[in-house]
Amino acid sequence: MSLASGRAYLAIPGPSVMPEEVLRAMHRAAPNIYEGELIEMTAGLIPDLRAVARTKGRVAIYICNGHGTWEAALANTLAPGARVLVPATGRFGHGWADVAQGRGLSVEMLDFGKRAAFDLARVEAALRADTRHEIGAVLATHVDTSTSVRNDIKGLREVLDATGHPALLMADCIASLACDRFEMDRWGVDVTIAASQKGLMVPPGLGFVWFSDKAAEARRRLGSVPRYWDWTHRADPEMFYQYFGGTAPTHHLYGLRAALDLINAEGIEAIWDRHETLARAIWAACETWGATGPLELNIAERSLRSHAVTALRIGAPHGSALRQWVQDNAGVTLGIGLGMAEPGDPAWHGFFRIGHMGHVNAHMILGALGAIEAGLVALDIPHGTGGLAAAAAEIAAGVSRP
Ligand SMILES: *Cc1c(COP(=O)(O)O)cnc(C)c1O
Repeated sequence: MSLASGRAYLAIPGPSVMPEEVLRAMHRAAPNIYEGELIEMTAGLIPDLRAVARTKGRVAIYICNGHGTWEAALANTLAPGARVLVPATGRFGHGWADVAQGRGLSVEMLDFGKRAAFDLARVEAALRADTRHEIGAVLATHVDTSTSVRNDIKGLREVLDATGHPALLMADCIASLACDRFEMDRWGVDVTIAASQKGLMVPPGLGFVWFSDKAAEARRRLGSVPRYWDWTHRADPEMFYQYFGGTAPTHHLYGLRAALDLINAEGIEAIWDRHETLARAIWAACETWGATGPLELNIAERSLRSHAVTALRIGAPHGSALRQWVQDNAGVTLGIGLGMAEPGDPAWHGFFRIGHMGHVNAHMILGALGAIEAGLVALDIPHGTGGLAAAAAEIAAGVSRP
C-alpha cells in the first residue's frame, strides 16, 4: 500500500513549491504586449524587486534561468581576459567559474571544499597578492545549494575594503533571495543575481540582475556587450519591449506579480524569520536522528547553514532508498545529493537534500520530516529517536519568539 495520494510536496531546492495565487495569476488568456495592463504592471514590479534585494540600485530582468544570470552579470562588467576571483564552497561556485571561463575570463579559484564556508583570511591574502589590482570581480555564492553552506557576503565586503581592493563584489543569491537575510546595499554588493524558481516561488524562466552605480560604470567602460545580455535598456527602457530584449514573458510576469504581493503581505523580515525557524526544525530532527546511525548534516556549524536548503549524508545506498521511499509512499520528493559524488559511483547514493525555500510552512516541514522518519523506520536505517518531537519543539519555540 502507498500513502502518496493527496497533495504532493516537491521538497527539492528549486524549482520550489508554487503558491495557488501564482498559478491562478498565470492562468489567463494571452495579454496585449503593446498597450494596457501588462505595461503598467511590469513597471510596478521594479520597485518591489529592488525591495526584495534590499537595494536602491537598478534591476534587469532576463528570460533565462540562473545560468543566464551568471552570464549576464559577467557580460556587463568584464572584458574577455579580465581576471575574477572565485571562492567556491560547492558545485555552484564552480559553475559560475565555468561560465566565466567560457567568456574568456581568467579565473582564480579558491576552493574551500564541500563542507566549509569561505575562509575570509584566504580571500584577503589573494586580494593582497593582487598588488596591480587585476582582479576585476569576486564571484561569491551566498548559499551554495549543493552543500547548503551559507557564506558571509558582508564579510567579503569588509575584506575588500580592508585591502583597498577595487574589485566588484558579485553575489549569487539564486538559492537565498527571499529566504535568508540578504542586504545588497548595506553589505556593499555591486551585482546580485537571482532566478524566479526558488525563494521567489515562480516557475523557472525569469532571471534577475541587480547592479550598483559602480557596476553600471563598469558596463559603460566596456566597448560592446552582447545585445541580449546588455542590461542598459532592460534596466532603463524607453520602449516596453526593451525590458526583455523582445517579447515579454507575459505569464511569468503575472505570476511574479502575485508572488511579490505575497512577499509584501508577509514582509521580508517575517519571511526570513519563517525560513530560519523552519530550518531549525529540520536541523533539530536531523541532529536527533543522527545521534545514532549514519545520518549527518553536511554543514556541522549551525551559523553556516542555509535556511532554504539542507544537505545530508547518510551513506550509500540509504540516500537514494530513502528518497525513493518517501516519494513512492508519502508524496514527498526530496532532492538528490549534488556534487558530492560522481553519478555512477556507488557513493552517489549516500546523499540527499531537503529544499525548504519559498512557499513552505510548518505543516509542510513537519509532514516532510514525518515522512522521512517513517522512511528511516521502514528501511531499517539506524537513527536516534525523537527527531519529530525535537522539530515540533523548535516550531513551538519559533512561534513564541517575539
Ligand atoms: C539553482 C542555482 C543556480 C542555477 O540556477 P538554474 O536556474 O538551474 O540555472 C545557480 N546558483 C545557485 C546558488 C542555485 O541555487
